[in-house]
Parts: sequence; C-alpha cells; structure tokens
Amino acid sequence: MQLDDCLFCRIARGEIPAAKVYEDDEVLAFKDIHPKAPVHFLIIPKKHIQSLAHAEPEDNALLGKMLGLTRKLAMQEGAVNGFRVIINTGRDGGQEVDHLHIHVLGGPQPWTK
Ligand code: 5GP
Repeated sequence: MQLDDCLFCRIARGEIPAAKVYEDDEVLAFKDIHPKAPVHFLIIPKKHIQSLAHAEPEDNALLGKMLGLTRKLAMQEGAVNGFRVIINTGRDGGQEVDHLHIHVLGGPQPWTK
C-alpha cells in the first residue's frame, strides 16, 4: 500500500526521479539528495510504512532484508572500509520524511566528526 502524496512513495513509483542503487519488488535504494558523506544512500520499503515505530511484526522479514542489504550496497557504492546505518524515527528522532528509510553512509574520512 502506498500513499499518493508521500515523497518516498512517489520515488518508489518512479514519479519523482532518484539515483537508484538497488531495486527489487519490495525494496528501493537511492542516493540521498543532500549527501552527508562521500557515500550516502537510503533504503526504503516500497510499501508505505511511516517509521520504524509504525512497523508491525509482519514487517520483520522486510526489515531484516533491508538491513541485510546494507553491506552489499555499501560495498557496491564504494564504502569498502566501513559504513554507518541510521534510522531516524519520529520527530524527536530527527525524521523529516515520514516513510521509513535506512540511511547508509560511508566512504573516506573525514565525515563522521
Ligand atoms: P530523515 O531526516 O527523514 O531521516 O532523512 C530524510 C533524507 O531524505 C534526508 O537526508 C534528505 O536529504 C533526503 N531527501 C529528501 N528529499 C529527497 C528527495 O527528493 N530525493 C532524495 N534522493 N533524497 C531526499
């Protein structure tokens, strides 16, 4: 289930362009438009889940799949010496786009300071 006016649902539908790094029937990964590291991409479920706090037990396999993709895609995108995974959740968690997404950041230092 997707929402008409959700930014990341619209990217998942191809209505808004994004630099894709991975796609399958359930998951899309694309580069962050304002990268905070040499490698910075987002992994989203194609179905609309508002945040990690809104995921249901039935989403656990999907969440595991997304987390499992981080290593493979980090390597693919050049973060070969390590990477950081962030899931901002809710307003106090710094979440700005209300569609669950995993940030994957990496690449040569300095960027973590
Ligand atoms: P949040 O703060 O919700 O965890 O992060 C949202 C992220 O989405 C931000 O890092 C922001 O740069 C990225 N973002 C927002 N709008 C777009 C967009 O239209 N395209 C892409 N590729 N990234 C976006």
